Amino acid sequence: MTEQAAAIKVRGLHRRFQLGDQTVHALNNINLDIAQGEYISVMGPSGSGKSTLLNALGLLDIPDEGEYWLAGQNTVPMSEEERAGYRRDHIGFVFQSYHLVPRLSARENMELPMVLAGIPPAERRKRLAPIISRLGLDERADHKPEQLSGGQRQRVAIGRAIIMQAPLLLADEPTGNLDTHSGADVVDLLEELNAQGMTLIVVTHDMALGQRARRRIRMVDGAIVSDDRSVVNVDATSENNIDKTTDIQPDTIPSQEPRS
Ligand code: ADP
Ligand code: MG
Repeated sequence: MTEQAAAIKVRGLHRRFQLGDQTVHALNNINLDIAQGEYISVMGPSGSGKSTLLNALGLLDIPDEGEYWLAGQNTVPMSEEERAGYRRDHIGFVFQSYHLVPRLSARENMELPMVLAGIPPAERRKRLAPIISRLGLDERADHKPEQLSGGQRQRVAIGRAIIMQAPLLLADEPTGNLDTHSGADVVDLLEELNAQGMTLIVVTHDMALGQRARRRIRMVDGAIVSDDRSVVNVDATSENNIDKTTDIQPDTIPSQEPRS
């Protein structure tokens, strides 16, 4: 893992929002190295900057300060057009409220990134078929979002996120609007994609879901306050239940205690 070039390298990232005469420091000196294929959860209180971080990693928002290298490219100086192209090729995004286009069918929603990328219809159909099956949406592909359950809508959103075969999947509270059962289905699907090599970063309020990730990041007030790779599974039959944080390189542990 440590030999691998970082898929994501973030240095000194800041994002501030002006609210009247108050400045909200939504990201306060974020430093991160993420290798291809990692499975990371981001947790923390509401307002701690989790969505702002995900939006920055997803190139949906531009930081005020700092560097963000994605697949070896410094993304901060990119033009809006370059950023859009980079987003299309490298990043899939799944939101809590699905963000599907209401007047398009499930199939058309998933097809949309390919349409925007100029992929011809025959090729689009070829790529869509196995994904629709895998998402269990064969019977529902021609339905509009309003005719689908929450779990099905989120599956469509995941289909759209992975159709361009982007190596990075970002999910902001992907199970936040789902019942336990459909939430578990969505998590299984995300973890299956991660097992096949996609980097998976999931923002969640759900402790149980957060603990499933191999690496768990905790944010408070716009800063990363812990970055934990210890093994959490308690194995009663052995002494394996010890802290295994030694694979964190010292230079990747951010020191972000608030200045006093
Ligand atoms: P989280 O996802 O952890 O709940 P957010 O990243 O959404 O937190 O927000 C972090 C802080 O930044 C909050 O104080 C929030 O109000 C503020 N914030 C986020 N986006 C904006 C925005 N577009 N305009 C003004 N303030 C914002
Ligand atoms: Mg949020």
